Amino acid sequence: MGPAPSSRLALQYRPVEGNWNDHDTGGVMNVLISGAGVAGPVLAYWLCRYGFSVTVVERAPTILKAGGHAVDLFAPAMDIVERMGLLESVQERQTGTELFTVFREGRTRPVTIDLRALMAAISRRHVEIMRDDLREILHGATRDDVEYLFGDSVAAVSIDGKVRFEGGATRRFDLIVGADGLHSTVRRLVFGPESVYTLWLGGYIAVASVDNTYDLRNSMLGITGVNRLVGVYSARHMADARAFFLFRPPAPLHYDRHDLPSQKHLLRAQFADLGGEVPKLLDQVDRSSSLYFDSITQLRMGSWSSGRVTLVGDAGYCPGPAVGGSTSLAVVGAYSLAGELALAGGDHRVAYPGYEQAMSTYVQRSRAFAITMARRLVPTNRAQAWAMTTGVKLITSLPAPVMHAISRRGTRLGLHDSFTPRDYPSLIGLPRGDAGVQPQE
Ligand SMILES: Cc1cc2nc3c(=O)[nH]c(=O)nc-3n(C[C@H](O)[C@H](O)[C@H](O)COP(=O)(O)OP(=O)(O)OC[C@H]3O[C@@H](n4cnc5c(N)ncnc54)[C@H](O)[C@@H]3O)c2cc1C
Repeated sequence: MGPAPSSRLALQYRPVEGNWNDHDTGGVMNVLISGAGVAGPVLAYWLCRYGFSVTVVERAPTILKAGGHAVDLFAPAMDIVERMGLLESVQERQTGTELFTVFREGRTRPVTIDLRALMAAISRRHVEIMRDDLREILHGATRDDVEYLFGDSVAAVSIDGKVRFEGGATRRFDLIVGADGLHSTVRRLVFGPESVYTLWLGGYIAVASVDNTYDLRNSMLGITGVNRLVGVYSARHMADARAFFLFRPPAPLHYDRHDLPSQKHLLRAQFADLGGEVPKLLDQVDRSSSLYFDSITQLRMGSWSSGRVTLVGDAGYCPGPAVGGSTSLAVVGAYSLAGELALAGGDHRVAYPGYEQAMSTYVQRSRAFAITMARRLVPTNRAQAWAMTTGVKLITSLPAPVMHAISRRGTRLGLHDSFTPRDYPSLIGLPRGDAGVQPQE
């Protein structure tokens, strides 16, 4: 179990040796972002609009598709995507999944859940999109203005903004942002080991590309049992399908995050006895060259900024993959950080506390939401499994106004819509940026 959210480690800056190659940005403040997932490119986009010079370093060799799951953009993130002029591209690539037909272990009749109605109960505005599609759109919107360095990583950071990359280069930046996901390297270098800040929510998630055997277009098929859920879905524009596996072992598993065969082995051990189509899915996972496998872990840092360094998205406040709306949180966090930096004229001593303050309630509520969701999504007994599927079906069958009233009152379903991001572009008075933001001493 992780620490209380207020805990904080002593800073771990180490001097970085090397010859410093101060990149000439013409006097404009330069920012290094580690990670070109979701938060990284959104932050890069807004910082460029506000006149900063931005470099993004991404460990993956290209932006090319790596597999992965569908992610959700709820109202505040959708509003930001619209402000970025990307609404149409995002809507064009939405998965369009409308129905979830779920079989329950020990029962013959499946339950069909109307996912559109469920999402409408959660947020006034929502799009489900494959993570890879979203990344591609965000990269496309930033690649002309941002320096992207693929296939590299930050190896060391010093308090004055000096950075050494794994590839050997050394450079100095005015600000450094870790947008490198749940297992962030920047966070480890500056704030210490991940284990100090993590709370395991009791489950694991795995996602792999499989054949679209059932010709799924707008529906998802699944089987739920005690402590496990497996499903398969596709999207209108995808040739393949994605199989996902959620499970809750009695205790945390010990495995190497980089050892794919052992993760496949763990998955088979959890699901092999489920029958039906599941063994065939597992065979395909075995043959697949990419598998996303992670623990459903929540990050609980009291503060995620230190000196010139801050964190954004999963790196700083992942509520838990698949259970807490982490993609929306990442978009909102990136937009807010850029806005606070621009409002403060690039002074991180003002901007970082402002950013943390702006995100604080949303982050805390997302954590609470994720803990509840992790329990509900993978029921621990048959009665819970029945209650989960039947309860959701009941809510989504009600007339829309009644459904909204029930789902938002006394529940945490209204989480995303309760957050309204500040209108930074107006506050800052865009268009602006020709002069750039001057570095702070
Ligand atoms: C391959 C992949 C598949 C995913 N699939 C799912 C899923 O199926 N279900 C789910 O709920 N969530 C999934 N996630 C997480 C989900 O996408 C995030 O919660 C959400 O996108 C938040 O965005 P983020 O930008 O904060 O983090 P991420 O989207 O995780 O992006 C972080 C980025 O940083 C890069 N990176 C990592 N380490 C370094 C480093 N040392 N140096 C430079 N770059 C680095 C990563 O390659 C990645 O591009 C996945 C993440 C990844 C990386």
